[in-house]
Amino acid sequence: MSTIAAIATGAGAGGIGVVRLSGEDAAAVAGVVFHRGRRGGPIDLNQIASHRLLYGRIVDPATGTVIDEALLGWMARPHTYTREDTVELSCHGGPVSLRETLRVVLAAGARHAEPGEFTLRAFLNGRLDLTQAEAVLAVVGAKTGEGLRLAVADLAGDLARRLAPARDALVGLLAYLDAAADFPDDEIPTSDVAAELATAERALAEVIAGSHAGLLYREGVQIALVGRPNVGKSSLLNAMLRTDRAIVTPIAGTTRDVIAETINLDGIPATLLDTAGIGETEDPIERLGVERSQRALTTAAAAVLVLDGTSLPVDADLAVARRLAERAGPVVIAINKRDLPTRARQEALLDLLPGAPVTAVSATTGAGISDLERSLADLLRADTVAAQVQPALITARQHAALDRALVQIQEAETARQTGYPQDLLATGVRAALHAVGEVTGEAVDEAVLTEIFSRFCIGK
Ligand code: GDP
Repeated sequence: MSTIAAIATGAGAGGIGVVRLSGEDAAAVAGVVFHRGRRGGPIDLNQIASHRLLYGRIVDPATGTVIDEALLGWMARPHTYTREDTVELSCHGGPVSLRETLRVVLAAGARHAEPGEFTLRAFLNGRLDLTQAEAVLAVVGAKTGEGLRLAVADLAGDLARRLAPARDALVGLLAYLDAAADFPDDEIPTSDVAAELATAERALAEVIAGSHAGLLYREGVQIALVGRPNVGKSSLLNAMLRTDRAIVTPIAGTTRDVIAETINLDGIPATLLDTAGIGETEDPIERLGVERSQRALTTAAAAVLVLDGTSLPVDADLAVARRLAERAGPVVIAINKRDLPTRARQEALLDLLPGAPVTAVSATTGAGISDLERSLADLLRADTVAAQVQPALITARQHAALDRALVQIQEAETARQTGYPQDLLATGVRAALHAVGEVTGEAVDEAVLTEIFSRFCIGK
C-alpha cells in the first residue's frame, strides 16, 4: 500500500506536534528529510533497530534548509498502530513547522492521508476490528472521564465481546441449518434452534438497551433551569459552573437570552440552559427570551424547577410547574435561598409535581448544590437506564444494524414457531449475521467504510 502522511496533532500552536507516516516507504521517505544529530546527514532507518527515538533535524532536501529540530520515532511493522512501517516526526508544535515538515515529506514521496486513513489501515490489516476502530472516535471525542472509560473499554474490545455470543450463536445455527438443507437424509446433530435464537436475541437486546445510557455519556443531555424571574436561576447556573458566566442582577427579567454552559454532572456531559422567566411579559426583547426558553424547554431532556424559598408560591410559579407537569422528562425541584432565614411553605406547588426530588439549596453559599447535582444525575440515569444495564457507546449506524439483526432474529423465531421450512429460517439467520457483521466489520462494504472513516480527522 502507498505510504501516507499527515499532521497527527491538533491545529494551533503546541509544545510539540507530530507528522505521522505509514506504509512501505515510510523509512525511505523519512530517511530523506531527517538528518541525524546536529551535523549528521540522511539516515537509513532499516539499519536501525525498531522502536527507537532519534534526535536530529528536518531538512528540505531540495534546498538544504533546516526546517526544525525534531525527534524521529521509528517503528517497524508489525508492532505498530497500522501494522505497517511507521515513522513519527515530533517537531516543535507550531503550525508552520508542521506544515513545512509535511510538505517535504510529501515531496519525498508520501501521499497525504485521507481522514481516518491510519485507523482504516489498522482495521484493514487486522490490528483493530471495526468496533475498536469506531471506538477510536469515541475516545478522541470523550467529554467526561466516564465517557472516556467506556470508549477505552470498547477500544480494548468490549463491544465486540458483548456481541460475540450473538455472533457465535448465529454462526452455529447457520451451519446447522445449511447442513440440514444440504444433507436432509444424513444424521446431523440437532441444534436447539430456539435456544440459539434466544441467546442471540438476548445479547443484542442487552447492547441495544445499554445504548440509551451510552448516549447519555457520549452526547450528554440538555437541562433547562426554569422558574419565574428572580428566583435565582442565573445564580444557580453560576453555582453549578463555579464560574461567573451568566449575568446576575437584582432586576427581574435580565436574562433575556438562553445561556448554555456544559458541566460534568457525575460523568454525564450536561448542558445547562438558563432560561429567561417563562411567564408572560410586555417587553419585546424579554418576549424573545421567553420564546427561546419555551423552545429550550422542548429540547431539554430534563428540567430544574427553581423556586424562591423565601416567598410563598405565586401564580407565575404555579404556571411554570404546571407546564413542567405537562411535559415528559425528569424534573428536580431546587428551593433556593436557603441561606436566608425566612422560609415559606411550598406545598401547594410541590403537589403539582409529585415524585420530583426536592433539594433546598443556596446559590449564594453553594449549600446543597452537590446534593442537587447528585439527584439530577441519578434521575437522568434512572430515566435512561433500564434496570442495571451496562451502558453501550454505540453510534446511530451501529444501533440501526443491531436493530435490523434483532428484527431478523425475532422473525426467524416466529417462523420457527409457526413451522416454516428451515431454508426460510436460514435466510433470516443469515441476514441477522450479516447485520451483526456490519458492526464487527466482518460484513462491511467499501461505502460503509468510507462513511465511517470520513468522520475521523485527518491524521487519525
Ligand atoms: P433569575 O432571574 O432567576 O436568573 O435570578 P438571579 O440569579 O438573577 O437572582 C435574583 C436575585 O436573587 C439576585 O439578587 C441574586 O443575588 C439573589 N439570589 C439568588 N440566589 C440566592 C441565594 O441562594 N441566596 C440569596 N440570599 N440570594 C440569592
